[in-house]
Amino acid sequence: MLIIGFVFIGISMFDFFTLDTWEEPKYFWMFFVALPLIFIGFVLNGPRLQKVMLEQQKDTIRETMKVMGEGLSEGINPINKYCRNCGKGAPKEDKFCSECGTAL
Ligand SMILES: [Zn+2]
Repeated sequence: MLIIGFVFIGISMFDFFTLDTWEEPKYFWMFFVALPLIFIGFVLNGPRLQKVMLEQQKDTIRETMKVMGEGLSEGINPINKYCRNCGKGAPKEDKFCSECGTAL
C-alpha cells in the first residue's frame, strides 16, 4: 500500500515537473490518489513502523547516554597519574591500579 502510494506520488511529481506549460498534467490526479493511499498505508503499518522507529530511537539514546557517561566519568575522574607497573592511567583518588592492582 505504501509502495503504491509512493510510486503514484513519484509519477505525478515527475509528470508535474516535466510537463510543458500549456499541457494539462495527465497524471496529477495520482497525487491526490496517492495521499490517502499513503495515509492508509501508514495506519495499517502503524504499529510496525512505530516499533521500528522506537528501536532506532532506543539505539540512538543508548549511544548518546554512553558517550555522555564516558564524558562525565572522565570529567569527574581525570586521569592524572599513571601506574608504575603497567602504565595505565588512573584518577588521583585511586589507590590501586585498576589494571594490575599495584599500589599507586
Ligand atoms: Zn597497573
